[in-house]
Amino acid sequence: MSKSRICLSVIETTLRANLSRIDEYRHMIDLVELRADYLSRGELTHLWRFPKKAGVPVILTLRKKKDGGMFTGEESGRIGLMKHALEGGFSYIDLEEDCTGSGLEEITVAGGGRVIRSLHDFSGVPDDLAQRMKRLARAEKELPKAAVMPLDTDDVLKLFSCYRELDGMEKILVGMGNYGFPTRILAPYLDTYLTFCSVPERLAASGHIDPSTLTSLYRFREVNRDTILYGIIGNPVMHTFSPIIHNRGFKAIGLNALYIPFQTDSIPSFIKLAHLLSIKGFSVTIPHKEGIIGFLAEKDVSVDATGACNTVVREGDGFYGVNTDTIGFLEPLKRAVAGSSLKGKKTTVIGAGGAAKSVVYSLIGEGAEVLIVNRTGERAQKLADAFDCGWASLDTGGIERIKSYSDIIVQTTSVGMEPDPSASPIPDYVFGGNEIVYDIVYNPPETTLLKAARKAGCRIIRGKEMLLGQAFAQFRLFTGREYPDQEGIRKEFQ
Ligand code: NAP
Repeated sequence: MSKSRICLSVIETTLRANLSRIDEYRHMIDLVELRADYLSRGELTHLWRFPKKAGVPVILTLRKKKDGGMFTGEESGRIGLMKHALEGGFSYIDLEEDCTGSGLEEITVAGGGRVIRSLHDFSGVPDDLAQRMKRLARAEKELPKAAVMPLDTDDVLKLFSCYRELDGMEKILVGMGNYGFPTRILAPYLDTYLTFCSVPERLAASGHIDPSTLTSLYRFREVNRDTILYGIIGNPVMHTFSPIIHNRGFKAIGLNALYIPFQTDSIPSFIKLAHLLSIKGFSVTIPHKEGIIGFLAEKDVSVDATGACNTVVREGDGFYGVNTDTIGFLEPLKRAVAGSSLKGKKTTVIGAGGAAKSVVYSLIGEGAEVLIVNRTGERAQKLADAFDCGWASLDTGGIERIKSYSDIIVQTTSVGMEPDPSASPIPDYVFGGNEIVYDIVYNPPETTLLKAARKAGCRIIRGKEMLLGQAFAQFRLFTGREYPDQEGIRKEFQ
């Protein structure tokens, strides 16, 4: 198995600006792809000077519009520019599968360089991708490359099956976009020659990340064939904090494991992928927390009671599901009451959605007396009936009733979340100062509701506490170990 390299794609309009980008990341990368199609016209004649100044191996790419690039001139002009550039001794040239007979290959090889023979497909993953990859190289030393855009989880499955079929073959194979993201960070695991990345402010392609995130968060230099895979499924999923929490934990306990976001639109296809990659466990977020239940061989009582599952771990050939939102919610609350019981505490839960179910289930389990207040009264009533507690609509009468259920107030609606952080579900409620106020929204870290409660002297609990609590419980299920340095990550998430 060969080493997988980190290749920085640079797309500035001047050679000088591209050189500065390389200098910023030189210590993290192995080679550079100069996307010459982004250069301003006047710069193109000086291309040959670039490799020497770069001081790292450089791939010359002058991509046509039809292949996803910026070059719009005549093909003869493009070939002429590349021939001139090769006088500077580029280590690689990227030539598309239909770019043959120009003499560029011979010039590259004579100069000690290598041809990357590439195909691009922005409309999905072709069924015959593996066969096409096998036929792509025109000469013995050519390096076949495919960059394809998976459009759904079926495509992702097809792409990972293709890696399996091409195992042992020297190649570059990249899945673009959010669906393809796992293939970029798993390049060493998938034994592909390199992965492309770019600077955060100047992303060269959909799904690129920056070299720093690739090497620190996703530990690119440490990943290998033996790495145990974990992940999170959801749609959307790229915004989640979970990879930061889990990958940091794996690193701290010295476990060769990686936690990856899998954008997922089909649970059955993901389950096939999980078997193909022997994924050992995964988190589940919106909209799959209910849908995943039908695919579990066994489930914890927390799943049955809440009708939701956010954690799945492999057990033999099947999967076992747990809802750690319940533990994640309770742990910070128990810390806040400092060992005293929640039994009999008059508690309001605002909201009656998926998260509210876990919250109410946990509170009832601890013996709290719960009032559910929700915008849609019928939904509050349905949840209250399931747990035998009180309910009210989120109107003037309902808000008045909160006053007599105010030892603890838990906010579980999406109100106050980015992009509308100034909102509160109970803007006119006057806090007395003795309430414990818990908002499970974690973005922003302190909601408008929590700010008002803190100002009135209440003890507050932020949503990130629950987020971390449920993740710590997942970590225990994934690894059998306690999450290391919990205070450290709490501080990082302040
Ligand atoms: P959900 O199932 O869609 O429920 C949404 C809830 O918000 C419902 O009660 C809904 O009331 C209410 N709501 C929405 N817009 C409203 C508005 N404009 N005014 C009043 N009420 C409104 O969502 P969920 O899964 O329960 O998630 C809710 C929030 O919890 C999200 O912000 C999520 O990020 C957060 N969460 C945090 C954690 C954590 O670890 N900290 C874990 C899970 C969830 P109706 O019934 O009237 O529609």
